[in-house]
Amino acid sequence: MSFKTAISVFFACFLLFLGPAWALDVNSVRIGGHGDKERIVVELTGKSQFRAFVLQSPDRIIIDLDDFNWKVGKMSRPPVTLVKDVRFGSLGGGKGRLVLETATPVIIKSAFAIDKSGGQPDRIVVDFAKTSAAVMKEATTQQMGNMKMPAEPKAASKTVKKSSEPEEKFAPAKARKLIIIDPGHGGQDPGALGVNGAYEKTIVLAVGLELKRQLEKAGYRVEMTRATDVFIPLGERVKFARKKGGDLFVSLHADSISRSNVTGASVYTLSDTASDKETAKLAERENKSDLIAGIDLSHQESDVADILINLAARDTMNQSRYLAKTVINTLDQNNVKILDTKYRSAGFAVLKAMDIPSILVEMGYLTNRQEVERLSNSAYRTQVASALKLSIDKFFQRN
Ligand SMILES: [Zn+2]
Repeated sequence: MSFKTAISVFFACFLLFLGPAWALDVNSVRIGGHGDKERIVVELTGKSQFRAFVLQSPDRIIIDLDDFNWKVGKMSRPPVTLVKDVRFGSLGGGKGRLVLETATPVIIKSAFAIDKSGGQPDRIVVDFAKTSAAVMKEATTQQMGNMKMPAEPKAASKTVKKSSEPEEKFAPAKARKLIIIDPGHGGQDPGALGVNGAYEKTIVLAVGLELKRQLEKAGYRVEMTRATDVFIPLGERVKFARKKGGDLFVSLHADSISRSNVTGASVYTLSDTASDKETAKLAERENKSDLIAGIDLSHQESDVADILINLAARDTMNQSRYLAKTVINTLDQNNVKILDTKYRSAGFAVLKAMDIPSILVEMGYLTNRQEVERLSNSAYRTQVASALKLSIDKFFQRN
């Protein structure tokens, strides 16, 4: 375990300590075998549903279980192993995740649960082997185990199974994509104020509802964090997206700035450090939403948020960045004015949905008279929404 992992583990323990008393403990994780064939054995204090699958960039094996307490001391592992790093944490919704980063591309050969017997505890066994990057890529669409979780973007029904192993059930093929639209602010939090008196909360809701209409017409499923003028805390928006098992999360905003000549849309993704000063300030403004509504944020540990980002989000972040760039290009090609510095990143609380690719779109500056008037016009809003819909099409065509 690297020092960084040890730190993560420390904070994850802290997180677990704060959390509810879960029934399930992970008491031991053993790695055995050598060379290009290895076995992971996870010892539990009870039965748990699970699923196992692989993801790339970085190469890793994911084992999802019921939420668990981490009671593992020193891990047992051979001197030479493909496993470089082990991380874990809570996925929310009663699920926990173990991540085993590997030194090379790997494929899961088999994965099964063994019930407690003969003094041995309940355990989950995952056998894996070295493979090529191309074969691993194919395998990212397969998962093993009996846990159903609709949120994973690459879930599929096909998998490899040996007849000598316990019966396995597989997740059903992915249904229509679910887009979570998050119109910013609402209720007592108006967001930015337009020079024509328009509120950010009103403009972003109108674009959100138009985007929903267009997406549903094209066969997507859509859930909105708010569809009326109500206040929803940032954390609730993230929880909502995860609970619904969204495939994409799009947060809609419009900004304000002291210089009234600044105009154009920009798109943001989550990062632990802001790409520049202005973006850090923007994130601060947007993150203030909860303060405006009088919600006490003092109990929210930023370190906990950091682990959640660290845990499973690296490939989600790549996907988010790809989506952000697609949106910028598509807006540009569809006559939506974009800002000179179009794409930036910072610690936006509302983007911390972890395993869902997420972006925040600032559609323009309400402090510029022409722009706020454009955004107050339904024809222009329809144009913005159709460019967003087109970007979402492009995103799924690639993924
Ligand atoms: Zn906003």
